[in-house]
Amino acid sequence: MRQMAILGGGAAGLCCACETAFLAAQKNRPLQISVFEALPRVGKKLLATGNGRCNLTNLHASPADYNENARAFVVPALTRFGPQSTLDFFARLGLFTHADAAGRVYPLSNQAAGVLDALRLEAARLGVKLRTDTSIETIQTKSGAFILNKTERFDLLVLACGGKAAVKTYNAESLLRQLGVPMTKTAPSLVKLTTPSPLPKQLAGIRAAANLRLLLNGRPAAQETGELQFADGVLSGICAMNLSPVLNRFLSGGGTEAAVEIDFVPSMTAEQLKETLGGLCRTGQRETCEHLLSGLLPKQVGLALLKAAGLSPSASTASLTGSQLSALCCACKSLSLPVNGTRGYADAQVMLGGASLDAFRPETLEAKSLPGLFCIGELLDVDGLCGGFNLQWAFASARLCASAVAEGAL
Ligand SMILES: Cc1cc2nc3c(=O)[nH]c(=O)nc-3n(C[C@H](O)[C@H](O)[C@H](O)COP(=O)(O)OP(=O)(O)OC[C@H]3O[C@@H](n4cnc5c(N)ncnc54)[C@H](O)[C@@H]3O)c2cc1C
Repeated sequence: MRQMAILGGGAAGLCCACETAFLAAQKNRPLQISVFEALPRVGKKLLATGNGRCNLTNLHASPADYNENARAFVVPALTRFGPQSTLDFFARLGLFTHADAAGRVYPLSNQAAGVLDALRLEAARLGVKLRTDTSIETIQTKSGAFILNKTERFDLLVLACGGKAAVKTYNAESLLRQLGVPMTKTAPSLVKLTTPSPLPKQLAGIRAAANLRLLLNGRPAAQETGELQFADGVLSGICAMNLSPVLNRFLSGGGTEAAVEIDFVPSMTAEQLKETLGGLCRTGQRETCEHLLSGLLPKQVGLALLKAAGLSPSASTASLTGSQLSALCCACKSLSLPVNGTRGYADAQVMLGGASLDAFRPETLEAKSLPGLFCIGELLDVDGLCGGFNLQWAFASARLCASAVAEGAL
C-alpha cells in the first residue's frame, strides 16, 4: 500500500488527512496516511483559536485578504475551496456553524473543541494513523521516496508544520533546508504593538473604540477600526494586531520611523467634534474640562487627552479659547504614539513569511523540484488578518493538496 506522511497534526494537517483519506476511499485507492505530531496531542493550537471559539473561516475571504506577494498564489486554492466549501466540508463531518455580521464563522457550539473533534473523529473513521509525541527531525530523499527520522519510508510527504507563533515545536526551517526549499524572512504577526510612550501604562486595562492609522516614514500605510486595548508598553485589540504585519514587514525591511495615530472619536469629523464640544462649553452643560469628554470617551482616556492637549481637568470650560478647543479636538482625533515593534512569537497568532511560494505549484501545492512533496497551511509564506482568514487558508490549502494527491500522485 502507498504510504503518505503528513508532518503536523494542526488544522491543515488534520484536514488534509481527512480529505485525502475520503477521496482515496471514494476512488477505491488504497493509501495509508500517517500524521506526525511533535506534541502529545493533535490540534493544540486549534483549541486556542478565536478565544476558544475557533473562528474557522470568513464568509468574505478572498485573495485580497492575504499578504500581497501571496495573492496570486492563493487563487487556485480559494477558488476551489473557498469559505462556502469549508462550511460544506465541516457539515459533511457533522460540524455546523453560524456567522456574525462581519462574516466570521464559528461552530454552533461556540467551542473550538467541536472543530477538533470533527477532524479527529473523521481521521479515526477513515483509518488515518495519528502519531503523536513524534517530532520529525530529518528528511532524506531516496529514489523518489522520503525517509523520515532515518527509519520510515513514505511515497508522499506533506509539510503542515505551521509557523513559530505560540508553539515551541517549530523546526521547519531545518526540514526545509534538508529538502532544498528556500524560506523567506519570518516575523511575528497578529500580535500586540510595542510603544515607548508612557500612555498605555497610564491607561492599562482600558478599552476604547478607535480608528488606528499606521504611519510609516510619516505616511499612512494601513488603518483599522475596532476596540483598542491598553497595557504597559503595548497597544492591543484586533485593530492594533491587524496593523502588526504591515509594521513588521516595514521594520524587517530596515524601516525605523513608525507611529500609530489614534482617532478616539471615529464617529465624528474633526469639525463635528469641535462643534459638539464648543456647544457643551457654551451652554455650560460641562463646567470644567474634567467632564468635557465624559459623554464621549472612557474617563481615563478623556483625562489623558486633556493632558496631551495641555489642559487642566479643573480649568473652566467657559474660558477655553478656540485654539485650546482645537488642540483638544486634535488630541481626540489624531493622537500620535511612536511604535517600535511588536511582542514576539509567544504572543503572536501567526508567522509572517515561510516556505517560499516560488518553490511550489499554486494549482497543486506540490514542490516544483521534488514530485510527491507538498506544503500547506501557515508554513507557506501566506498570512491573513484576524477574522478567520488564516484557518480558511489552512483548510483550503489542505484540501487543494488532498485533491492533487487524489487526482494525480495516488
Ligand atoms: C491564540 C491564537 C488564536 C488564533 N485564532 C484564530 C482564529 O480564530 N481564526 C483563524 O483563522 N486563525 C487563528 N489563528 C491562526 C491559526 O491558528 C493558524 O493560522 C493555523 O492553526 C495554522 O494551521 P497549520 O495547520 O498550518 O499550523 P498549526 O496549527 O500550527 O499546526 C502545526 C502542527 O505541526 C506540529 N509540528 C511542527 N513541526 C513538527 C515536526 N517537525 N514534527 C511533528 N510535528 C510538528 C506542531 O506541533 C503543530 O501542532 C490563531 C492562532 C493563535 C496562536
